[in-house]
Amino acid sequence: MGLYQRWRRLRLQGLQACRLHTAVVSTPPRWLAERLGLFEELWSAQVKRLASIAQKEPRTIKISLPGGQKIDAVAWNTTPYQLARQISSTLADTAVAAQVNGEPYDLERPLETDSDLRFLTFDSPEGKAVFWHSSTHVLGAAAEQFLGAVLCRGPSTEYGFYHDFFLGNGRTVRGSELPVLERICQELTAAAQPFRRLEASRDQLRQLFKAEYARRGFSEVKTPTLFSTKLWEQSGHWEHYQEDMFAVQPSGSDRPASSQSDDSTRHTTDILALKPMNCPAHCLMFAHRPRSWRELPLRLADFGALHRAEASGGLGGLTRLRCFQQDDAHIFCTTDQLEAEIQSCLDFLRSVYAVLGFSFRLALSTRPSGFLGDPCLWDQAEQVLQRALKEFGEPWDLNSGDGAFYGPKIDVHLHDALGRPHQCGTIQLDFQLPLRFDLQYKGKAGALERPVLIHRAVLGSVERLLGVLAESCGGKWPLWLSPFQVVVIPVGTEQEEYAREAQQSLRAAGLVSDLDADSGLTLSRRIRRAQLAHYNFQFVVGQKEQSKRTVNIRTRDNRRLGEWDLPEAVQRLVELQNMRVPNAEEIF
Ligand code: ZN
Repeated sequence: MGLYQRWRRLRLQGLQACRLHTAVVSTPPRWLAERLGLFEELWSAQVKRLASIAQKEPRTIKISLPGGQKIDAVAWNTTPYQLARQISSTLADTAVAAQVNGEPYDLERPLETDSDLRFLTFDSPEGKAVFWHSSTHVLGAAAEQFLGAVLCRGPSTEYGFYHDFFLGNGRTVRGSELPVLERICQELTAAAQPFRRLEASRDQLRQLFKAEYARRGFSEVKTPTLFSTKLWEQSGHWEHYQEDMFAVQPSGSDRPASSQSDDSTRHTTDILALKPMNCPAHCLMFAHRPRSWRELPLRLADFGALHRAEASGGLGGLTRLRCFQQDDAHIFCTTDQLEAEIQSCLDFLRSVYAVLGFSFRLALSTRPSGFLGDPCLWDQAEQVLQRALKEFGEPWDLNSGDGAFYGPKIDVHLHDALGRPHQCGTIQLDFQLPLRFDLQYKGKAGALERPVLIHRAVLGSVERLLGVLAESCGGKWPLWLSPFQVVVIPVGTEQEEYAREAQQSLRAAGLVSDLDADSGLTLSRRIRRAQLAHYNFQFVVGQKEQSKRTVNIRTRDNRRLGEWDLPEAVQRLVELQNMRVPNAEEIF
């Protein structure tokens, strides 16, 4: 592999810059073996999945190279590394990664469709970055294996890389250990153990939103949690909302920074505040460079943690917290685009609530007595919202005079399975923030114009929504959201190993699975225990199931689904999870 050759030629220059803080442990920790085992499971599941896709639709694809040359490849099968070898052995040896349609790509990842392919070698800045980054992981893996190190930070830098480790009690790596580390690094990068990467996630609600955001043209962004109070002064929060914000004074900042500083200047220079909302940060993102009408609507979504200084008496369970996340987004658009944007916000809301099994009722709140801004603009905006609501076709109420001072809004009250209302989503127009941040874009005619800002959230606080969901399903989560999807129960201790295998297959497929091998309890007590804990499914394995490599399936409502081949049962659960059905136990 190219990586290995590079390592040899470069003689581990990066290692000399390493800052290692470790102590020696004699045997590798158990978690390392467990993690490597899990990786192998996930990896083989991925290899199988790719093979089955490739088999289902064998297809020739055209790959274009930088010189204009085109080569044939097989979809979901041919890798950039194979093509590099086809072109020249030097290229195969020096390539560290590929770029496919401009995206970074592992050399071993199969190509999926007609693509532009470029190879990255160490000579290019991108190639260097990939190489140093991979090298960091190699060094980390060697330190885990040899020293049992706990990995901390390990970024690549402009000229190399380093890794911080932790083992406790302030011991540093001995000089005599460095050659061993170097040897392990070389072994890890040798062809026998090529680099492999997997990405996995279980955060189902966020996955739902990620898919919707991609489909609906939102860009997910991350913005800082702490900002100088200057920002909050500009947005108006410092004046109107200060009591609900957590302000932070960095330690040491009470010392005068210079002889000129005095109390009156300190609060703008020293005090920071935790963000209670994302809007000002998104306005900064909009304003950081000139914008054109072609970029609108610009939709920025942010799951960042928000902090609000709620009174301790107002706190409650998951429903009111001092730190929470929202499925928050801000849409910057022209007045002409407003109606279509409001309609697609409403459509977004309907499709998410349908998946979660909620009904909802909408309310339009119009301008209050102390409103800010041009009354004509308000009239226009209120009419736009009314038209969008009529077009949407669901019933809605009018809350006259109940809008925010900065713009009219649509509030969403959802009804849980027991019919109780909860205020969650909101769609708010804002004419004031674009003024305060002097947001502008170049219009079609060339003149500068001001965008309208829409604040919108479908769920509102994610924590509160989880609380509402937990209560409304009484702990019996739908499979796709459930923290207790499957428990595997061996009948006797002889089946424990097979039960563990079944559990691993479930985990490899991305399902949450536990094992109840408590031999101190009878089988029926363990099944009862699993049903009380609301595991959606129980896989019972006895002698017969072990010999036939099957599982006997029950649901949490004690429906018996009978004997299934293990891989088929896992496959069916994955399907039901991906379909996000509310009643997987009934339609299994
Ligand atoms: Zn906002």
